[in-house]
Amino acid sequence: MPPFDVPEGDPFGPHNLPYGVFSLNEPPTNTPAGTRTGHMTERTTESPTERTVGVRLGDHVLDAGAAARALGSPYAGLLARPTLNPLLAAGRTAWSDVRRALTAWVTVPAHRETLEPHLHPLSEVTLHLPFDVADYVDFYASENHARNVGQIFRPDAADSLTPNWKHLPIGYHGRSGTVVVSGTEVVRPSGQRKAPTDADPLFGPSVRLDIEAEVGFVVGAPSPMGTPVPLSAFRDHVFGLCLLNDWSARDIQAWEYVPLGPFLGKSFATSVSAWITPLDALTDAQVAPPSRTHPLLPYLDDSEDEPGGYDLRISVAINGHVVSEPPFSTMYWTAAQQLTHMTVNGASLRTGDLYGSGTVSGPSESERGSLLELTWNGRDTLDLPDGKRTFLEDGDEVTMTAWAPGPGGTRVGLGEVTGRITPTP
Ligand code: MN
Repeated sequence: MPPFDVPEGDPFGPHNLPYGVFSLNEPPTNTPAGTRTGHMTERTTESPTERTVGVRLGDHVLDAGAAARALGSPYAGLLARPTLNPLLAAGRTAWSDVRRALTAWVTVPAHRETLEPHLHPLSEVTLHLPFDVADYVDFYASENHARNVGQIFRPDAADSLTPNWKHLPIGYHGRSGTVVVSGTEVVRPSGQRKAPTDADPLFGPSVRLDIEAEVGFVVGAPSPMGTPVPLSAFRDHVFGLCLLNDWSARDIQAWEYVPLGPFLGKSFATSVSAWITPLDALTDAQVAPPSRTHPLLPYLDDSEDEPGGYDLRISVAINGHVVSEPPFSTMYWTAAQQLTHMTVNGASLRTGDLYGSGTVSGPSESERGSLLELTWNGRDTLDLPDGKRTFLEDGDEVTMTAWAPGPGGTRVGLGEVTGRITPTP
């Protein structure tokens, strides 16, 4: 099927157009042997086997920089680049302009002949981490998740939520250098653990390796140090979102986290999708967050703003077997509130900052976004076709997918995030 003929209803149709970075698996084979040297040199410097920005269309990727050059577009300078960072840094007006141009390129039949040489089947490319991750923050914004965790770890507490939970979006700073693209294998981490029944700490491979189904938000436009970013400026700074798996070693985490929070139980790996979905593709998915049960301080009060939630339907599978379907629309704190909170003290934003929403868990048992909750900290088992699970086994492959409502009844697909657990060396 010709690549422009994306099937009706494809969640990666021209209404979506997520951005990634790719390289071709094989050098182009259509260059005849004995081609003039000058031509070869030009092909080498312009070879798409280098990393370059791509836009997904159905099961193909459009070499966006090459397309821009072929069409004489002024956006080649933003798109013929090995990361998304220059586009991210260009700001909201440029994001809209580039998206409008791309939409025209892939929908106007007159461009078809020019663009077809720059469309590559996904099966013939390698997808890379699409942007240079600056700072990485992870939040804790699902009330269902926070209550489940509270009941599991603090069963005697009067309230399963901590006293601050309804007043601010709780978060911590994670390790940006170990954010990896979907498909990267995850080595089972080792560390200290100490169960209440152990007399002394033990050292060894984690025996409670878990997932956290999350959505990651990607900051484009930076902000100066000392200047908080208000709720109203969210769309000026945040470019898009992606699925994120915050791999978590629960045994390491449980022993180390008091009083400074997550550290080595989280920092060994965080996986993100290869595709960043621009917020401009998700306007039909905007929904109001759950009603607020506590008054908010003015800087977090979004009652007069556009709806800050996103209706993203997430699915989590282990070895191809769906274990959970967390609904992002149930998140109590919005991405805009998280951005505002993380800068309210004057902390600056940098291009490439990434922040995770926190584990997405819905109200029902089949909507829980971690094995911690799905098995109630190992008390129960998940029965998969290939055996029972409490936490992840070596060889397990975890894949998260998602879609959102798009214009005219379409679906906007998010790029999957997948990773397989390999044994501790
Ligand atoms: Mn997390």
